[in-house]
Amino acid sequence: MTARKLLLLPGDGIGPEAVAEVTKIINWMNSNLNTGFETETGLVGGSAYDAHGKSISDVDMDLALAADAVLFGAVGGPKWNDVPYDVRPEAGLLRLRKDMALFANLRPAICYPALADSSSLRKEVVEGLDILIVRELTGGVYFGEPKEIIDIGNGQKRAVDTQVYDTYEIERISGVAFEMARTRSNKVCSMEKRNVMKSGVLWNEVVTDVHEKKYSDVELSHMLADAGGMQLVRWPKQFDVIVTDNLFGDMLSDVAAMLTGSLGMLPSASLGAPDARTGSRKALYEPVHGSAPDIAGQGIANPIAMIASFAMCMRYSFNMIEEADRMEQAIANVLDSGKRTGDIHSDGMEKISTSQMGNAILEEFQGLSS
Ligand code: NAD
Repeated sequence: MTARKLLLLPGDGIGPEAVAEVTKIINWMNSNLNTGFETETGLVGGSAYDAHGKSISDVDMDLALAADAVLFGAVGGPKWNDVPYDVRPEAGLLRLRKDMALFANLRPAICYPALADSSSLRKEVVEGLDILIVRELTGGVYFGEPKEIIDIGNGQKRAVDTQVYDTYEIERISGVAFEMARTRSNKVCSMEKRNVMKSGVLWNEVVTDVHEKKYSDVELSHMLADAGGMQLVRWPKQFDVIVTDNLFGDMLSDVAAMLTGSLGMLPSASLGAPDARTGSRKALYEPVHGSAPDIAGQGIANPIAMIASFAMCMRYSFNMIEEADRMEQAIANVLDSGKRTGDIHSDGMEKISTSQMGNAILEEFQGLSS
């Protein structure tokens, strides 16, 4: 079988602790399921700065570009608060996103039944929730020019950010959303503000056009982004895939994330364009949480976001749908059994460590794989 090349970039803080749990799973899968994952490990963030004076070395960047997928832990921490801006830990992640041209950010919000009580919304609103937010990541108002603060006299200044989207940017992100929908419940809701923004008018036209030409089998609806925010907290289960721009996606994905409980549960993926020859996309998978310096090194971090990121990697980079389904089922079963890391612990549940959680999920996955 062709090798599946993975680059592991554990990073800082709890990143290495979480990635270690995925490594256990990969080793077991290679030995028992003949999965052929080939892993290399690099440095990113503060650990790369300590070793090379850069937030990612050119050698590790080349490994990332050559890999089928990158598994990224987390970066940052107080130790590196005063390093020069250009080599701060987060710059390593930004360089990966830029050089790998990762324009599509996928953030699932899954509410495991066992955790429905810990959401801030009523149990029946979130129990069994499974939605995917597809956010455009490299365009829009965060990058558009001009972007400046100018002096306009009389003690006044003017701040300008520019929201700009070209047709091709909307075509490619909506293509990702429709493709994802086909692997799920086949519904896409596109969100913009066409009532007040020209970029919203174009967004709406292009998504409609892409749908008509290539994805008419998928159910498409449109919603104004502010109404979408309300609907996400009123009845989130009405959605399957939501596609939206960089700014609205930033906010709506954080709203959706909080429907599900803890930061320690949330995976994400960032994808690039398909390679013209092989059809495969550059991809980076990472938990939504940061390096959690307050709990790093104590063996108490929740590894589920990292393990669920690996499940996304199997699903979207390697088309290993059954294995990804089984991994997510293993997570749900372990939570059902009452095992919890500290961040999701509640009365009557069994509190366990990072490695005990990793072992429990692997054991459950082994059972489901036999
Ligand atoms: P954080 O996500 O690291 O932590 C926020 C809170 O959630 C903390 O109390 C932490 O203990 C808890 N938490 C997070 N993940 C957890 C897990 N898996 N298990 C248990 N508890 C968990 O955010 P922060 O504290 O704002 O930032 C800490 C550092 O991480 C900063 O240097 C920040 O820049 C960096 N950061 C990095 C990324 C990234 O690497 N993608 C993302 C966000 C923040």
